[in-house]
Amino acid sequence: MLPFQTLEEAGIFLGRNLTIAETLWFKYSARMPDYILYCHNTLFLFIFYTLVPLPFVFIELMHSKKIDQFKIQPRIKNSLSDMFDCYRKVLLTFVVAVGPLQIFSYPVIEMIGIRTSLPLPSGWEMFWQILVYFLVEDYANYWLHRLLHNGWGYNKIHRVHHEYNAPIGFAAPYAHWAEIIILGFASFLGPLIAPGHMITFWLWFILRQMEAIETHSGYDFPWSPSKFIPFYGGAIYHDYHHYVGGNCQSNFASVFTYCDYIYGTDKGYRYQKEVFEKTRKQM
Ligand SMILES: [Zn+2]
Ligand SMILES: [Zn+2]
Repeated sequence: MLPFQTLEEAGIFLGRNLTIAETLWFKYSARMPDYILYCHNTLFLFIFYTLVPLPFVFIELMHSKKIDQFKIQPRIKNSLSDMFDCYRKVLLTFVVAVGPLQIFSYPVIEMIGIRTSLPLPSGWEMFWQILVYFLVEDYANYWLHRLLHNGWGYNKIHRVHHEYNAPIGFAAPYAHWAEIIILGFASFLGPLIAPGHMITFWLWFILRQMEAIETHSGYDFPWSPSKFIPFYGGAIYHDYHHYVGGNCQSNFASVFTYCDYIYGTDKGYRYQKEVFEKTRKQM
């Protein structure tokens, strides 16, 4: 809830006129409890999880040869009911793990000082903070994911995510509820280290989820804007991890390629990349 009653009071506090974005934020959030603003994150995760994979569903069902050339494992066909089944199962995990994790983590968010007030963060502030969040999450996720590939962790938890040897967009958060909580910790780590504005927090979770959906989409489009991101893993990189399956000791990183490079866990991928490329074209 904002500590100002009117736009004039907010202007006096800032010592300038409010920008259009700040005026809109004031009108939307002035009387809304911070807890409700925080809960928006769960709603956004649900909306983006539902909408972002839809174009991949349509192109999967089109069976167009022009588009199928960009499919990473073209022999694998998914029907609408297969994909909807995945969506339905993930929604259940949303109810059991994602929602409670988001809602019960509020005291931590309050403690670290994710702010909801004015001024709004500048574009640069948001950019640098989100970049830090991506780097921190990528590093933590790398080690947690690598740990989950050992015996008990794999058999009891991570095996569920690997049920898809050829992932689809809806399968990005398809995982055991315990994995959602374990890897969810990595997503909170960046905001814990460098807390920012609630809008930056929302945007971070939205972008991270969009990235995971693209990575699991099963398609590698040369025109994807993510191709311009340095050291970005992308769909083929993570598809290889799923293709190899439970025994895979390669490509653990969730976003970038540098962790696997530094710790030598991309050797198998680099060695087999050409073989994998040829095999998948014959598939
Ligand atoms: Zn894995
Ligand atoms: Zn995956």
